[in-house]
Amino acid sequence: MVVAILRRAPGTLASAVRLHRATFAAPTARFMSTHVTNAACEDHEPGFLGSVETYFDRAAKISGVSNKSLAAIRAVDSVLSVKFPVEIDADTHVIIEGYRAQHSRHRLPCKGGIRFSDEVDLQEVEALASLMTYKCAVVDVPFGGAKGGVKLNPKKFTPAQLERITRRYTMELCQKNFIGPGVDVPAPDVGTGPREMSWIMDTYRQFNPQDVNAAGCVTGKPISQGGVRGRNEATGLGVYYGVREFLQFPEVQKMSGLDGDIAGKTVIVQGFGNVGYWAAKFFQNNGAKIIGIGEHDVAAYDPNGLDIEAIFKHRSEKGTFRGFGNAEIIEEPIKVMERECDILIPAALERQIGLKNVKNIKAKIIGEAANGPITPDAHDYLVSQGKVVIPDLLLNAGGVTVSYFEWLKNLSHVRFGRMSRKWEEAGKNKLLTLVEENAGRQLTPQERRAVIHGAEEHELVYSGLEDTMIGACEETRATAALKNTDFRTAALVNAIQKISTVTAQSGQMFL
Ligand code: NAD
Repeated sequence: MVVAILRRAPGTLASAVRLHRATFAAPTARFMSTHVTNAACEDHEPGFLGSVETYFDRAAKISGVSNKSLAAIRAVDSVLSVKFPVEIDADTHVIIEGYRAQHSRHRLPCKGGIRFSDEVDLQEVEALASLMTYKCAVVDVPFGGAKGGVKLNPKKFTPAQLERITRRYTMELCQKNFIGPGVDVPAPDVGTGPREMSWIMDTYRQFNPQDVNAAGCVTGKPISQGGVRGRNEATGLGVYYGVREFLQFPEVQKMSGLDGDIAGKTVIVQGFGNVGYWAAKFFQNNGAKIIGIGEHDVAAYDPNGLDIEAIFKHRSEKGTFRGFGNAEIIEEPIKVMERECDILIPAALERQIGLKNVKNIKAKIIGEAANGPITPDAHDYLVSQGKVVIPDLLLNAGGVTVSYFEWLKNLSHVRFGRMSRKWEEAGKNKLLTLVEENAGRQLTPQERRAVIHGAEEHELVYSGLEDTMIGACEETRATAALKNTDFRTAALVNAIQKISTVTAQSGQMFL
C-alpha cells in the first residue's frame, strides 16, 4: 500500500511526504541502484540493495527456514520519504530530500544510522536498513533494522545550515513516528557524528517534553548529552577484535597462510573517517603496520608503515595526505587496495571491490568495515581464490553493539559502574588483605591497585564489545563449518534463523 500525503509545511513551501508500508517483495531483486557504474563495478553488477538481496537469498536456501517466513524477513517493512524546504539565506530556500527505512520491526526499537551524502537514495537506505536487521541478529542486539539518509554533501553547507537541515529532518521523523526510544533510534553513519546526534536529540525533546527517556531516541551522542564512553571508537574497535579472532582460527590460518598474531601484519585501510581511523589505530596499537590509507581524493602508501596519529594530524591541518613524510601519493586512490598486504580493510563506502578490480586484490584477509564494499561476483571470486572475507554484518557490528549499551544507559539514567565501582573495590581490598595475611607477603601498591581497580565506563563497554564480537565470530565460524559455506553466508544463516525464531515464538499475530 502506498499512501501519499501532501501538506503545507510550517515554512512557506509545500512539503511532500510519502509514507508507504511495503508489501512483501517478490524474490526478483531490484538490482539496479542509481549509481551502478563506478571504478570497481561492471554495469551488470547489482546495486547495493541487489547485493544485499542476493546474499540473503543464498543464505535463505540453506537456512532451513520456511519460504513464508523468509519472504516476511526479507521485505522492507516501512519507508518514509520526505522533501522539505530549508532556508539557506534570506533569499534562498533549497528543497532537501530525506529518507528513513524500517526494514524489520520483529524487535523494537528499530536501529540504524543516518547518512548525509550526495549518493543517498531510497534503494541505498533500504539496503542499509536490511543489513542492520541481520547485523543486530548476528550480535544478539535486540533491535530491528532501520536506516536514514539525507541527500546532501555536508561539506557544501555551513554548520548553521546543517543544524537547520538536521532539525527539520528530525521534525519530519517525529511527526511520522519514525523516531523515539521505543520506536526507532538513529545513530551516526557516513557524514554524521556526535554533533548531529545532539541536534536530533534536542529536537526530539522539544516535540516530546514529557518523555523521560528522550535521551534514548538517538545514540552516538556526546558524553555531555547522555552518550556512552567508547561509542566513538566502537565500530573500529569491533573491526579489530573481529579480525583478531578470525586470525586465531586454524582454518583461517590455513586459508591465508598467516599466523595467529596481529603483530607484524601489514594492513591497508580504505576510508579514513570514523571507522577507518579507529580501526587503523587499534591495529597499529596492537603491533600491525598500516602501509596504505585511501581517501576520496588520494591515497598514501609507505611500506615502512604510516604513523596513524601523525597522518591524521597532517590531514586535519592540510586537508590532504599530500606532503606527509615519505609517503607515496597514489592519485587514483582506489588502487591502494591492489597493493600487496596481509589484511585489507575497506572502511569507506559500498561497492568498492567489484569485477573490475577484484582480480588485482592481493590481500589474504579482507575485513569489511564498511557496509557492502564487495559485490556478490567479486565476493565469489575472492572466496574461490581462498581469500578470507569477514563480512560487514559481523565485522562492523561493534557500532550497533555499543549503541545498544548507550541506549541501556539512557533508559537506566545512570553511568555504567557508578553504583558498584567503589563497592567492588572495597570488597577486593578486603580479600587482598586476607590473602596477604595467609601468604605472609605484602603486595606492592602497584600490584594492589592493579587487582582492586574497579571498571570505568569505557572499560565495561570495551569488555562487553569484545565479548560480543568473540561470541559472534565463533557462531559464524561454527555455521560455516556445519553448512560448508563461506563466512558471509554463515553469518546470514545465523541471522535468518534467529529472526525466524523470534517471529515464530511471538505468535505472528498480524501475519
Ligand atoms: P565517515 O563519514 O566518518 O568516513 C567515511 C570516510 O570515507 C571519509 O573520510 C570519506 O572522505 C572517505 N571516502 C569517501 N569516499 C571515498 C572513496 N571513494 N575512497 C576512499 N575514501 C572515501 O563514515 P564512517 O562512519 O567511518 O562510515 C564508513 C563506513 O562504515 C560506511 O560504509 C558506514 O555505513 C559503515 N559503518 C559505520 C558505522 C559507524 O558507527 N560510524 C557503523 C557500521 C558501519
